Amino acid sequence: MHYNYGKITVIGTGPGDADHLSKKALESIKEAEIVIGYSSYLKQIDSILNENQEKMPFNMKDEIKRCETAVKKSLEGKTVALVSGGDAGIYGMSGLLLEIIDKESLTGKVPVEFVPGIPAFCAVSAAAGAPITNDFCVISLSNLLTPWKDIEKRLRAAAAGDFVIIIYNPKSMKRKEELTMAKNILLENIEKDTPAVIAKAVTRPDEEIVITTLENIDKFDIVSMNTTIVIGNGNTYVNDLYMITRRGYGNKYDLSKNNIDKNIAEEN
Ligand code: SAH
Repeated sequence: MHYNYGKITVIGTGPGDADHLSKKALESIKEAEIVIGYSSYLKQIDSILNENQEKMPFNMKDEIKRCETAVKKSLEGKTVALVSGGDAGIYGMSGLLLEIIDKESLTGKVPVEFVPGIPAFCAVSAAAGAPITNDFCVISLSNLLTPWKDIEKRLRAAAAGDFVIIIYNPKSMKRKEELTMAKNILLENIEKDTPAVIAKAVTRPDEEIVITTLENIDKFDIVSMNTTIVIGNGNTYVNDLYMITRRGYGNKYDLSKNNIDKNIAEEN
């Protein structure tokens, strides 16, 4: 069976500035007749859009409308780019789009392609040095779609597992207390002076980064909708410039000072 539906490409646009878009993402955006996305993400990629493309900006909570519009335009035969910040498969539009296509019995009929993007936590890690390096988990504090009791359960499990913990959506206009509540849960199992990095708007003009400790993560004004927090594990430390999680090389090799020549000789 042949259908003349237009392709929907779901594109992760990365953490912010257009330099962090992949070549494939850039090409896919340029090829589209219609570009659909959250208005502020569309603004961020404005410089790469051209005047012949139809731009369809949507409000923050209009995710269902965004996906349904993408499907509608595809059925009209249009090539659609559905853009989503970071990677579209991480708290982004990919899953919802596939659910909607499924619900409409269009799976396998509407052509869909996914183009990965750099997730915010990778950009935050790069900005802070090497805070992740080992097993980690990401927990969103937004209880819009996930009940708070599940978020609490995940925070406790992450703390018990000594994961590096990445917190997304730490605060919004309506959710101001959740970060302190989350911190108190983590403090049940994690040392209060464990290093943490608070990173706002990474790769964007208003980027701000602070390295602090778990007990202070809720004391900074820069915590907002555009902030990610990374809390280290039991092997994380900071120096004058960086936050570093030891992956465990020191358990296997002698990483004491003035040992470079000896280690290189042993490796060879
Ligand atoms: N799909 C995105 C996540 C969307 S959820 C990804 O792959 O990363 C939105 C959350 O991502 C924000 O609340 C914030 O916690 C984080 N975030 C997105 N962009 C960011 C940036 N430039 N700097 C810091 N955090 C960011």
